[in-house]
Amino acid sequence: MRRKLIVVFLSVISALCLAIWFAACSNSGNNYGEGTAHIHSFGNWQTVKEATCTAAGEKMRACSCGLSEKQTIPALGHDINETYIPATCQNKGSKSGTCERCKEQFYEEIEIDPSAHIYGELVKEVPATCAEEGVRAYYKCSECNKYFDKYKKEITEQDLVLPINENFHSLNKGESKCADCGTPLTTGLEFTFLEDDTYSVKKGTATDSNIIIPAKYSGKTVTVIGESAFEDCPSLESITIPASVTSIGEWAFYGCERLTSVIFENTTGWKVLQGSDMSNAEDVITDDVTQNATQLKYTYTYYYWMRYE
Ligand SMILES: [Zn+2]
Ligand SMILES: [Zn+2]
Ligand SMILES: [Zn+2]
Ligand SMILES: [Zn+2]
Repeated sequence: MRRKLIVVFLSVISALCLAIWFAACSNSGNNYGEGTAHIHSFGNWQTVKEATCTAAGEKMRACSCGLSEKQTIPALGHDINETYIPATCQNKGSKSGTCERCKEQFYEEIEIDPSAHIYGELVKEVPATCAEEGVRAYYKCSECNKYFDKYKKEITEQDLVLPINENFHSLNKGESKCADCGTPLTTGLEFTFLEDDTYSVKKGTATDSNIIIPAKYSGKTVTVIGESAFEDCPSLESITIPASVTSIGEWAFYGCERLTSVIFENTTGWKVLQGSDMSNAEDVITDDVTQNATQLKYTYTYYYWMRYE
């Protein structure tokens, strides 16, 4: 019994001594000035093993007391100057490069992407005229040579053709017949050259009851029916407006009492605007030639018509 107690006593004493010794070396400085404290002072990190692109390295630092610690240096990862060639509708693409550090080469193939066409620039529409077919605006993929409309929907080569347009006449200055088909056109109309390289048209001295607006005048497109263009024109009964026209000014047909037919070659996208306030823009139904006439006759101050694609 007594021997057992002595063993326990000795064990406790030695454990205590050990604890005190540990405390002395791990002391963080509370006992400053008492002489027993040691604050670890580590030197600079020394690289033991360099990290590479794919493998971790190791570094170490030591205190004068003999304690040292190690830390991992994370793998560096490859430093690749990558060349990226996207896949197209016809050809595979790739990602390739060489690691600047370890010189390992990389190459990854990218599968053909059937929808990755190279559209390039939209080729502008060539309108059909009274004498010649036109060509719709299109994109052509430089890889697969397929055609696409302006919304990038695939079309055939046949879809590109715009049929002959009987309303697309060209009038040259001083002439009374269409330069392309010879159809007699309204004479006396007055054309004003606009900043955007197109023409605006007004009644001028024209007295015809049926007026045909040419789509081209002296080689330039006619895009505007000017403000008050046909105002108070009691003889006017019918007018044909080509698709080239995209704007009709205020008062344009006001007071044209006998006007009962306004034929729009292109009836889509027309809106009536009040001033420049687009928020009030109303769609105009223009399939009904009589209704068009009625609407236009009452389109006056601050209201004008615009066609949006
Ligand atoms: Zn130390
Ligand atoms: Zn590398
Ligand atoms: Zn293509
Ligand atoms: Zn013609």
